[in-house]
Amino acid sequence: MTEAPAKAKRHILSLSGGKDSTALAIFMRDKVPEMEYVFCDTGEELPETYDYLDRLEAYLGKPIARLNPDRPFSHYLDVYRGVLPDSRTRWCTRMLKIKPFEKFVGEDEAISYIAIRADETYRTGYISTKPNLQAVYPFIDAGVVKEDVFRMLEESGLGAPEYYEWRSRSGCYFCFFQQRREWVGLKERHPDLYEKAKEFEKFDEETGRRFTWSQKESLEELEQPERMAAIKESQVRSKDAISSNLSDILIDEEEEDMACLVCQL
Ligand code: SF4
Repeated sequence: MTEAPAKAKRHILSLSGGKDSTALAIFMRDKVPEMEYVFCDTGEELPETYDYLDRLEAYLGKPIARLNPDRPFSHYLDVYRGVLPDSRTRWCTRMLKIKPFEKFVGEDEAISYIAIRADETYRTGYISTKPNLQAVYPFIDAGVVKEDVFRMLEESGLGAPEYYEWRSRSGCYFCFFQQRREWVGLKERHPDLYEKAKEFEKFDEETGRRFTWSQKESLEELEQPERMAAIKESQVRSKDAISSNLSDILIDEEEEDMACLVCQL
């Protein structure tokens, strides 16, 4: 009896809607024509992200598989008894991003293309560690640094994601990795999403415990006009402004180092 031919290894590139994974898709498009592109959609992403992925899909000439979690964020929030995810627990990444990705890969042998750049080899991150997944780092191998990423995005005609005008990373609109100035940006650009994020925050009157996205203040406190003005003022003073100039987009490398790779590369 002849043995069935071994199944070919799959090639998978997980997009976050951010600049680095997008640039990696551009970089790999003609090198690995069999590449499968995926986006783990929490259902809580920014509208700009969906638009950007549509444009990338057109550029790649291939569909980007949208992977949805089995249950929405609100379901898991109930499971975790209203305790919002934070940088320590990261249950959202596990349940809404990594699990759907691992289901998509199944038991197939696959190569997973990770967009860590050559100028950030210190990054560790939070990704799937399934044994049948072999992680590769084409940007590190090719010495691609941040400036190269922006150049690739510009040359492709895609540019950087639109949300970079007010926010320095991809991911859910309520992501707890957001800095205060980015919450202000969300309030100004997407007041409806700010309201939705606010609704997830809770105050337990019995225990006095607060479940807020930011440890220091609730979104209700942050949205007070004087507080927003103070945050914007300190942003200007510390030259911490997010510029729409591609080469000048500021990313807090230290915080980014802690962020989840699957969400924010
Ligand atoms: S983007 Fe932020 S909130 Fe969304 S799944 Fe990732 S870590 Fe969680």
